[in-house]
Amino acid sequence: MNKRKKIYEGKAKILYETSDKNILIQHFKDDATAYNNLKKAKVEGKGVLNNRISEYILSSLSDCGIKTHLIKRTNMREQLIHKAEIFPIEFIIRNIATGSLTKRLGVTEGTTLDRPLLEYCLKNDELNDPIISKEHILNFNWASEEDIKQIDKMSLRINDLLLGIFRAIGIKLVDFKLEYGKTYNKNEDKYEIVLADEISPDTCRLWDVKTEKKLDKDRFRKDLGNIIEAYQEVARRLGIMPEETNIKEVNFNKKLSIKFKKR
Ligand code: UDP
Repeated sequence: MNKRKKIYEGKAKILYETSDKNILIQHFKDDATAYNNLKKAKVEGKGVLNNRISEYILSSLSDCGIKTHLIKRTNMREQLIHKAEIFPIEFIIRNIATGSLTKRLGVTEGTTLDRPLLEYCLKNDELNDPIISKEHILNFNWASEEDIKQIDKMSLRINDLLLGIFRAIGIKLVDFKLEYGKTYNKNEDKYEIVLADEISPDTCRLWDVKTEKKLDKDRFRKDLGNIIEAYQEVARRLGIMPEETNIKEVNFNKKLSIKFKKR
């Protein structure tokens, strides 16, 4: 499918139009940003790993009945997705207290929560993605009550599935961010809510079960080093990265020679 006009460029991804108005190309960049763009860097290879990890996770969720925007990964950095009208909300799901939750409420870092905690943030960089309540969402028509009911249910189901996927490979799913959109389903002639964006170490906090080593973007946020090695470790444990591949030896600016395992 031919790549056409760039229609959106975010911090870590670019969206391109295709010849089909309902299908977009999602391109994963190597750019890493934190603290609302105050900290920026290129992390070579990150886009390739996130593309593959997110494809794996979204396909696994899809196998379990979760509707997603993903059609298929087409190359090392790109995937075809259904065009969706994205809700202007970041849906945060937490299992263990850390990050902004501990800062905001003074909860002890690392506390296991009694039940998954759902939070909503407004997607607005200028305002620093403020936390909002369901009442704000309904009042300002950012989503309907029915949409939120369905999304909350989907988020809890996704959390259950992801907890299982990561527990099986010795990783604690601490928290993560989801985005949802509405797409037109041609076959059923109706709009439906789909999971959009990506699920990767950029959007999740993942701690090694035994050592609590961080295997996610906190390595970048907190200057812990070895970012790409951590993302590679997640891919390797998920079984989608050949053991022998040493990503450091790969020049990601050249044509990539890594062969990911087929699912
Ligand atoms: N998160 C994200 N994008 C954002 C904000 C948060 O992917 O714009 C993810 C983050 O990686 C973490 C979870 O959402 O897994 C909760 O993030 P938190 O609110 O603690 O954010 P912080 O302010 O600590 O980045």
